Formats: sequence, structure tokens, C-alpha cells
Amino acid sequence: MAKFDYAPAPESRAVVDIKPSYGLFINGEFTDSEGGSAFKSISPATEEVLAEVTDASPADVDRAVAAARRAYNGVWGRMSGADRGKYLFRIARILQERAREFAVLESLDNGKPIRESRDVDVPLAAAHFFYHAGWADKLDYAGLGTAPRPHGVVGQVIPWNFPLLMLSWKIAPALATGNTVVIKPAETTPLTALLFAEVLQQADLPPGVVNIVTGAGATGQAIVDHPDVDKLAFTGSTGVGKMIARSIAGTRKKATLELGGKAANIVFDDAPIDQAIEGIVNGIFFNQGHVCCAGSRLLVQESIAEEVEQRLKRRLGTLRVGDPLDKNTDVGAINSKAQLNRITELTAAGEAEGAERWDNGCELPAKGFWFRPTVFTGVSQTHRIAQEEIFGPVLSVLTFRTPHEAVAKANNTPYGLSAGVWTEKGSRILWMADQLRAGVVWANTFNKFDPTSPFGGYKESGYGREGGRHGLAAYVTTGDAK
Ligand code: NDP
Repeated sequence: MAKFDYAPAPESRAVVDIKPSYGLFINGEFTDSEGGSAFKSISPATEEVLAEVTDASPADVDRAVAAARRAYNGVWGRMSGADRGKYLFRIARILQERAREFAVLESLDNGKPIRESRDVDVPLAAAHFFYHAGWADKLDYAGLGTAPRPHGVVGQVIPWNFPLLMLSWKIAPALATGNTVVIKPAETTPLTALLFAEVLQQADLPPGVVNIVTGAGATGQAIVDHPDVDKLAFTGSTGVGKMIARSIAGTRKKATLELGGKAANIVFDDAPIDQAIEGIVNGIFFNQGHVCCAGSRLLVQESIAEEVEQRLKRRLGTLRVGDPLDKNTDVGAINSKAQLNRITELTAAGEAEGAERWDNGCELPAKGFWFRPTVFTGVSQTHRIAQEEIFGPVLSVLTFRTPHEAVAKANNTPYGLSAGVWTEKGSRILWMADQLRAGVVWANTFNKFDPTSPFGGYKESGYGREGGRHGLAAYVTTGDAK
């Protein structure tokens, strides 16, 4: 199909100042590591080295936890909610003021299209701080139980798919409720967290309230294992989530785990097809499919399956894959070589198991990590591509005949994070939402996020909720609890 030729429309990267190397943000300032090493953060779109970052040692984590404890005992744990709220408002406002810097840096470090970092990640990150600023002085009235109080020091480990946004999901509720924080960004995407440290300095946040330690899995493990951490919040793979649950079993540590997903996006024959096609595309090709709640399994009613498949392929032919900083780009780079290998391996397994593979045939840049938007049809429930999280721009299509069959297939997964339902019948939406074992069910839309709305999983998608009042509950202990 003929495509329009767009002139390149690159966002300027001059708006952001990337330092050649970064230390750790502990006790309100950047410090050198004690015994740690360094690693490079690269742009997945060009493989260019962006900066050198510190691989924090257990001794560094210990310093960060000690700083968080001092800040908790000395200032943050005693501060009134109204005063804490002022800091959160300040952070939110500074994030808005520096939005372009954050958007460009996120797209450079992560590979996601600038349109998404500019219109989704950064505004939502600011919205989380605004939302939680409003709660800080109202916790006694939030229905959280008698006299809610903070846990103390919270350890947080976040993934690479929404680096700044996941940081905000974690830090905003922790601070609003009076906890102090030690957070580790993912190894491949540490740069917006380090820029966020500057925001904290600008906001005059008391030293030690938020500490940012960069590093790989071992640094995350040091946070998890640290005896003076009271609560853990983790987003990432189910495998690491299980390891964390095992590590803290038998300790007093509380935890919330936001893990993987294999969501069904279910399209009935009475759905508005044009909107559903857009919803399917948004569901799985948004953020290159690096989304835990991605609609990675399309369940389409048999009577319209052929039509939906044809229209979907036509639409995918128009997706523009390439430079994340180009404002016309729909699909950016895969975040890392390791993730590209994983996607490549799982899609090869899909073919080997007999599903029919199609991709949009677009040209890919010579350097960097890329994967064409891909659709598998003729997928059966036992195929690995129907069971495992691919975490890439790959859609598996299955069909169903009746609502009961749709529910049975949708729920036939170890995960339970999200689902989508496309139909014109309100009663069917309500019935489906009741039957689906998923933390979020979207109706005639997909991938919509809001700080007021709790997000989290069933089964192996983890436990605990983030966002809304439910998210606050995870960061407090109530009067009756010891
Ligand atoms: P991980 O779960 O390994 O990464 C998530 C975070 O945990 C990162 O900060 C990581 O550090 C850290 N981490 C790794 N090992 C440990 C440990 N033992 N203790 C504490 N923290 C640790 O995900 P991957 O990046 O390896 O991705 C693998 C797969 O996981 C993906 O293909 C995808 O399927 C899934 N995934 C799901 C996500 C979701 O939101 N549901 C998010 C990310 C991945 P580091 O980055 O340095 O390794």
C-alpha cells in the first residue's frame, strides 16, 4: 500500500544537557561510589553512548538506606501532611516546566517515540505528583483505617519501559504518605531518574528523603535484602518478582509487586470496527509493546475475524518505525539487544509451533535495535506466543464464537493484569468485566491511565495496587497494626 512521504520532523536534542558521567544521588547530592564500578547507558536507536553511570555497590545502598532513615526520623516522618504536599506540588510544577527536557531524554535513553514521551509519560508523571500532593494532608479521611502512618524507609525497583513514569508511580505515593525512598532505575534507562534528582534539588526537598542508586540486578537485590528497608515496591518481570517474594518471606518487610501480563483484547462482532482497529494498534504497538498491560492477545469473534485481520494489516502498513526523536514516528526502537533477542526467539518459536507470521515489511534503520510490527494468526492457546509475555510489537490473534468461550480463553493465562472488551452492548461489558480475572478492564478503549485509578494484577501479575486510594493503602500501616 502506498504511503505518504513525510519530511523528517526531529525534536531538538539540544534542550537536554547530558553529563558525560553520573554519580549516585544520596542524601541530597551526587556522590561517588564506594567500591562500585561504572556502566554505559546507550541510545537503543543508534547504539551511541549517552553517558557513563555508576553501578552502585552494597556499601552504596547501605549509605542510601542510612540517609533515608535519617531523613525519615529527623524530618520527613514528622512533617505535617500539608507541608509534604507543598513539596509534591513543587515537584509536579518543575516536571511540567522541564517537560521537554524529560521527553527528549526519555526518548533518547529508552527508544520510545517522542510523541509518547511528550504526550503520555511526562504529563502522566507530573499528574501523579499533583494527585498525591492533594492526598498528603487528607490521609486521615481517605478510608485507609485508623490513624494511618508511614512504613518508614521504602525500597523501590523499577523497569525500563516507562522509566520516569514508573518512578513517579513509586515516589509520589511514598512521599505523600510520609515515607522516605531508595529507588533503583533499570540498568538500560537510568538517565531520566538522574535528571529527576536535579528536580528534587530544585524543589529543596530535604536531603535523604529520596535517594537514587543506579546499577544492575545486584543493586536491586541489595535494596531488597537490606535489613533496614521497611517496605518494597517492585515493577518488572514475574521471574524477578518471585525471587523478591522469596527473599523477603519470613521478614517484616511489606511488598507490592507489579509484574507481567498477557492481556486479551476481545473484539465482538457488534464492536465499532474502526475504533477497535485503533484500539488494537494502541493496545500492542504503543511503546513498542514494552507494556505490562499490553493487549498482546487479540481475541476476535470468528464471524468478523477475516475482516478485522485485513483491516488491521492495512493499518499496520501505515505505521512509521524509526527515529524516536522524529515527531512522525509511531514505533521506536526496542529498548535493548537483550530484549530484541528475546522477542526474536519467541517469534521464531511462534513460527515453529505453526502460527502464521506477518509483518508490515517496513524498512529498518541499519544501526540500533528494531523489530517490525508483527502479527501472528492461527495461534492456538498452547503456543508459547499465546502464553508468554513477549514484551515487543507482536500480536497473537485467536478467535472465539461465544462470550463464554472468550472469557475462558482470556482467563487461560497465568497472568491477570488487564483486558479490553469491544462491543456496543453495555450489559455485555459489565458481564465480561465481572468474569475477567484482570486488574483493569478497558471497555471500547485500551491503555488509558490516570493517577486516580488503581492499577495492579491478579495471579502471577503480582499483588497490591498503584494509583488511587488503593495505591495509598500500600504505603501506610494503620493504627491497629503493629
Ligand atoms: P527485570 O524484572 O529483570 O527488571 C526490572 C527491574 O528489576 C530492573 O530495575 C532490574 O535491574 C531489577 N532487577 C533485576 N534482577 C533483580 C533482583 N534479583 N533483585 C532486585 N531487582 C532486580 O526485567 P528485565 O529487564 O530482565 O526484562 C525481562 C522480561 O521481563 C521482559 O522481556 C518482559 O517480559 C518482562 N518485564 C516486564 C515488565 C512489566 O512491567 N511487567 C517490565 C520489565 C520487564 P536491571 O534493569 O539492572 O536488570
